[in-house]
Amino acid sequence: MLCEILSVGTELLMGQIANTDAQFLARRLAVLGITMHRQTTVGDNPGRVKEALGEALSRADLVITTGGLGPTEDDLTKEMVAEYFGLPMELHADSLERIAAFFRTVGRPMTQNNRKQALMPRGARVMPNRKGTAPGCIVEQGGKIVAVLPGPPFELTDMYEQQLEPYLLARSDKVIASRFLHMVGVGESEVETRLLDLFHSDSPTLALYCNPGEITARMTVMCARGEDPAPLLDPLEREIRRRMGSAVYAEGIDASLPKEIVRRLTARGETLATAESLTGGMLASQIVDVPGASGVLTEAHVTYAVAAKARVLGVPQDILDTVGPVSEACARAMAEGARRISGAHYALATTGLAGPGGGTEETPVGTVWIALASAHGETQARRLSLKSDRARIRAMTCLHALNLLRLHLDALDTEEK
Ligand code: ATP
Ligand code: MG
Repeated sequence: MLCEILSVGTELLMGQIANTDAQFLARRLAVLGITMHRQTTVGDNPGRVKEALGEALSRADLVITTGGLGPTEDDLTKEMVAEYFGLPMELHADSLERIAAFFRTVGRPMTQNNRKQALMPRGARVMPNRKGTAPGCIVEQGGKIVAVLPGPPFELTDMYEQQLEPYLLARSDKVIASRFLHMVGVGESEVETRLLDLFHSDSPTLALYCNPGEITARMTVMCARGEDPAPLLDPLEREIRRRMGSAVYAEGIDASLPKEIVRRLTARGETLATAESLTGGMLASQIVDVPGASGVLTEAHVTYAVAAKARVLGVPQDILDTVGPVSEACARAMAEGARRISGAHYALATTGLAGPGGGTEETPVGTVWIALASAHGETQARRLSLKSDRARIRAMTCLHALNLLRLHLDALDTEEK
């Protein structure tokens, strides 16, 4: 099945917001084995929406539109789909009732233009909106399918997962099974080199997705409905794990290093504190983003000024006077100080130069020390030499700090086995 995405919204066209809806859909459709050759963005202009829809449908079997389902005048996507197929708009009673109920729940009056959201192209399959007012719909005609989704990302994601994806899966007698392995601490070219020959297989296929510092390997097979994909995927997964060793930290589509840390500390019943300088709370924030963080993170200390490192964390003044705050000794003392005052099982510390100014020959911008103090063993420290801009240096510092803890937990798990 060939698919195109048609994103509707002047704010997208003008660059005011990023098209995360298209990114989300493209990723998820790829996992289903649905091929995508094009994506289009148009403004909230009825003529151009209709024109772009016609063009997309001349090439693709499935067109998914995003945005323009709201109650206002400029929200016209559904109307243009109906017009394109020559279908009248009809009031959908269930949707009207749902919209009325939504307004009752939030305690706001329902205005006349909200009724517009309950109008649907005749014969369309309606997709209720559990997160907002505008329902979506699927129109099938002449072998073509148009799926109309709302613009706000949390509405779109929910509607896709709850309704569109099951609809697409049900149309096919084949299913796509994918597995994801997440790696950290290795570069893209290194992973590619180590796995090179594995990319040549047609089934399962192997693909890499790269984010700064992190790489995800996706293994995909197409199999018959009801067939167990495990025997097809197991050998490839084993081989990747064998070649990549401890770089592999998790599996699953939604894994991330902070989630993995929260999951593993929760399983061990242990806690973490942070002592942050250049990351300014970002490390703690990444942990707090994960549901369940309250069982794991005890406290986070942002000690940005040199004096705060001494006053809050008890970093010895002579360390600060001699080797200074961007040093192994300071990182170690910060981690140990945070562990001492928090009583947590582990404490992670970050200190370094995020730039752009302040670098010297000896300590260039991107020089970072991270340290881990642990209830199980000696404090460890690592020096990072990050060659990037301020934002990236800070983000990479968090990643490496979390990975330092992750590797320590790996070692403990192995010892305890
Ligand atoms: P509403 O009922 O809020 O008007 P809608 O379905 O009409 O929803 P739009 O009006 O197109 O959708 O967009 C509403 C908001 O959703 C936008 O202001 C924007 O914040 C977000 N949005 C829309 N399209 C996208 C997109 N492709 N990617 C990310 N966010 C988007
Ligand atoms: Mg709108």
